[in-house]
Order: sequence, then C-alpha cells, then structure tokens
Amino acid sequence: MHSQQVTAEPPSNSTVGDVPGALWSPASGTDRAPFTFDVIIAGCGPTGAILAAELRLHDVRVLVLEKETEPKSFVRIVGLHIRSLELMAMRGLLDRLLQHGRQRPAGGFFAAIDKPAPKDLDSAHAYLLGIPQPVIERLLEEHAIELGAQVRRGCAVTGFEQDDEGVTVELADGERLRSRYLVGCDGGRSTVRKLLGVGFPGEPSRTETLMGEMEVGVPQEQITAKVTEIRETHQPFWLRPFGGGIYSVVVPAAGVSDRAEPPTLEDFQQQLRAIAGTDFGVHSPRWLSRFGDATRLAERYRVGRVLLAGDAAHIHPPTGGQGLNLGVQDAFNLGWKLAAQIRGWAPEALLDTYQAERHPVAAEVLDNTRAQMELLSTEPGPQAVRRLLTELMDFDEVNRHLIEKITAIGIRYDFGEGPDLLGRRLRDIDVKQGHLYGLLHRGRGLLLDRTERLTVGGWSDRVDHLADPTAALDVPCVLLRPDGHVAWIGDDQQDLDDHLSRWFGKPAG
Ligand SMILES: Cc1cc2nc3c(=O)[nH]c(=O)nc-3n(C[C@H](O)[C@H](O)[C@H](O)COP(=O)(O)OP(=O)(O)OC[C@H]3O[C@@H](n4cnc5c(N)ncnc54)[C@H](O)[C@@H]3O)c2cc1C
Repeated sequence: MHSQQVTAEPPSNSTVGDVPGALWSPASGTDRAPFTFDVIIAGCGPTGAILAAELRLHDVRVLVLEKETEPKSFVRIVGLHIRSLELMAMRGLLDRLLQHGRQRPAGGFFAAIDKPAPKDLDSAHAYLLGIPQPVIERLLEEHAIELGAQVRRGCAVTGFEQDDEGVTVELADGERLRSRYLVGCDGGRSTVRKLLGVGFPGEPSRTETLMGEMEVGVPQEQITAKVTEIRETHQPFWLRPFGGGIYSVVVPAAGVSDRAEPPTLEDFQQQLRAIAGTDFGVHSPRWLSRFGDATRLAERYRVGRVLLAGDAAHIHPPTGGQGLNLGVQDAFNLGWKLAAQIRGWAPEALLDTYQAERHPVAAEVLDNTRAQMELLSTEPGPQAVRRLLTELMDFDEVNRHLIEKITAIGIRYDFGEGPDLLGRRLRDIDVKQGHLYGLLHRGRGLLLDRTERLTVGGWSDRVDHLADPTAALDVPCVLLRPDGHVAWIGDDQQDLDDHLSRWFGKPAG
C-alpha cells in the first residue's frame, strides 16, 4: 500500500465519537471499514504506551500496534527527570515507578558537569529516578492495558491511507484496520513519518557507540584497572557488573553504519581489542545494540489525521538523558487534545496547538544536546569552554537555568500576554484534600479557586472545580489543563468563561 498524503483538515466539532451511530464512517466510501478504533498508535515504546493511557482516560478506543513480539530488554536510560516524575504523580503512577528505581540527586546531568542542583528547585519531586527503560515500558504498557487500551504485538505498520473521515492502516501481513486517527510513536526510524513524507532535517551521526550486556572471561581486578585507564581518555567506554555475572558494555564503534540491525559479538570483541588491547573474553551476550548521535527534528508533527510523537518526531544524542522524557511529555500534551477532538468538544485548532507547543520544546532540547556534545569533546577549545561553564555554574541562576532545561520544569508555552506563571506547569502544591496532583488522576481540567465564588458551569463534564482558600497559591485562581499547564490566572467569571471556551470548547447544554 502506498501512503497517500492528505492535508484535509480534521472534521469540525461535530458529534463524532459521542454518538453510537457515528462508529461507522459515512456510506459515501466504497471500501470503508467500520471504525473499530478511534486511534491507532504505531509503536508501544514509552511514548506510545503513555499516549494510549492518556487517551483511555477519555474513553477513546485505542489500539497500539507493536512490531516486536516481546518487550525490549535493552537497558538504555539514565532515568526519569523531574517533569516526567511530576506527570507520573499526576496520573497516580509515581509510587509504582518508585518501587523499581533509585532516587538520585537531580544535578550533574548537563554535559555531565558535576555540580549539585540548587536546594530549592521548584518541585515536590526534585530528584532523578534511575530506572531501566524496560521497566518503565512494562509499567506504562500495563497501565495502558488496565485502562482498556488494546496492545497487539508482532504487528508492524507498513502503510496507511488517509481520507476525510479516517485512516486505513495496513500491517505487514496485509491486514487492514480503520481508525479516525493514526499516531506514529514508532521511534527514530519511524515508518509513519517516512510514509507521510515529512522531512526530518538535521545532522547525521558523526559517531556511533556499541552497547550491550554479556559475560566476561577475566577477573574483576583486571577489568577495573583497564576501565580506569581508558576512562581518563574521555571515550564513551565502560564495562561494569550488572549482577548475576552479567556485564554492561559500552564501547565506541569502528565507524558510523547507521544501520537498524544490532551489532554482533564480534563487533564488540574487535572494538574492545582496538581500545583496551583485550576483549576481556566477552561471550554469551544477552542483548546487543548501537546508538548514534544524529540530531533531527520532524518538519511537521501533523498531516491531516496522522500525527507524530516521541523519537518519531525528534532524535538527538542521549546526553543529559532527555529523549524518553521528551516523548512522554509529548504524549501528555497530545493525549487530551486528540481525545477532545474525538469526543467532539475540541475548540477549533486545539489539535494544532500540539505542534505549536511541542515543536519549539524539541528544538530547544536538540540545541542543548548539541551544546552538550561540544562540551564533551576532548579538543582543547571545547574543554576550555567546559571549564568556563563549570565556573559559571557556581552562580545559582546559571545552574538553575540549565537544570530547569534538562528536567523540563522550565518550559513555558506561549499562551499570550500574562503573568509569568501563565503557560508554565504548576508544581504539586498543598491543597485541602492533600496534594494537587492527586486531583489530576482522571486527566481532566481543574479550576483551583481561592475566591470560592467562581464556577466552571457548563464545562463541569470536562473540568473539575476545587474551591480552596487554603491552596498554596499566590494568585486568586488558576485554570489547569489536563497536562498540568496553567491556562488562565484571574478572578473574573467572564474572563474565566472565555478561557474555558478557548481550551475546553463550547459549554454543555
Ligand atoms: C544509550 C541511550 C541512553 C538513553 N538514555 C536516556 C535517558 O536517560 N533518558 C531519556 O529520557 N532518554 C534516554 N534515551 C532515549 C530514549 O531511549 C528514547 O528517546 C525513547 O526510547 C523514545 O521512546 P519512543 O517511545 O518515542 O520510541 P522507541 O522507544 O524507539 O519506541 C518505538 C517503538 O515502536 C516500535 N515500532 C517501530 N516501527 C514500528 C512499526 N512500523 N510498526 C509498529 N511498531 C513499530 C518499536 O519496536 C518500538 O517498540 C537514551 C537512548 C540511548 C540510545
């Protein structure tokens, strides 16, 4: 099947999705299958899994198609940064994750410059949670399934066609499925992005690194001595025990292959010998992978009824540990907007705010990873800049600025003129029921009202209202979007109604 690029606008806020009869596309099409699903997500990585869960909060029928038959076992990531931890707390998932990870200080991640974070970071969750990516993926997938998402493994998306009413998705075995929207969460080599014809400009990989888990054939003392010696050359290299006789191995690749296939054990042996003078007798690999330092950003996040999120939309080197975090945050931004579109209450252009808000955030992350990569160079010039920046980070404001970037708590979306808090996320403040984030588990909007005289009126099916004069806020009222960003600040009912319309569409009744 060839992809067909359709730039048609999505349907207006009709009753699509609200009316049982609307489960079927209009009879005008000749081969239109019934809409069994509202959204098909390609890829069950962290982005796809949490997006499915976000959509399920709004009763959207979701199918996640994952090409791999088994969950991945690659242990890739440093961990979850503050904003992702906050989002997990907002959906009641943080306690589950905490059981499987280790809390570490939030500082020291910008270009691995060893500076502690300022003590008073503006968050109730001001730490890094070190947790392996397979564990995150498992927990997020379980969460999505608990909420009613369907996940089908061993199903690769190979094609799609979109039209005014929906998208027909084709799988590798020829099966065709129909949904209203398709979201490509299928990683950096995204099939969906390629079929859409969306450009992915940026820089190709300049270096590649091999990473894997395997057993070794030499004693630990021998390894320790060699690793210490090589680490002094600042090369991406490690060989450390992972438990159960398994070692985690990272070694520079011989060159840039830009291939999707995993490297072989021989590739590791050859590179270990080239760099350490011995291959440490490595054998019995558990998994082997490679990653590059390409930096690319999709030109568009949406073409008609097809959207992109996570690595499918942006890739960059792993410095600072931001990629998974960025994808999870894309999903929280997109989920409620796409659900609103499907449920029929989305204001016009709400769905387009996904790209307007998230594309600049990704561009900034790409830029900060470019800067970090320069600072990690062993050349004398970049090393001098690194020493200078290390000194500058002794200034609290500089250190804070960089940490707010890496942890994504400094993001401010452009919602127009207004106080500094407008467009930012609100921290998990104390409210009379306990914690603010405990009130956001259902993914609805929230009016936090210290005046106790405002109302959400006809929007009460989408927006909760908490009248709480004790709320730890220094403004009278805030309206929070389902992703926890401040959509309005004020104390005037008419102004509030205007903003409820802007974000949550027409009032019911
Ligand atoms: C060494 C390393 C360390 C890293 N450390 C960190 C870190 O500390 N913190 C951090 O935030 N990020 C880190 N990252 C980045 C992080 O791993 C990625 O950003 C993250 O996995 C992106 O998630 P995703 O769901 O968007 O894409 P992926 O994890 O790539 O998931 C995409 C899924 O789509 C599936 N798929 C692909 N094609 C198809 C298809 N045609 N049909 C159906 N399914 C398909 C794939 O099998 C896969 O399961 C690191 C990356 C590397 C390489």
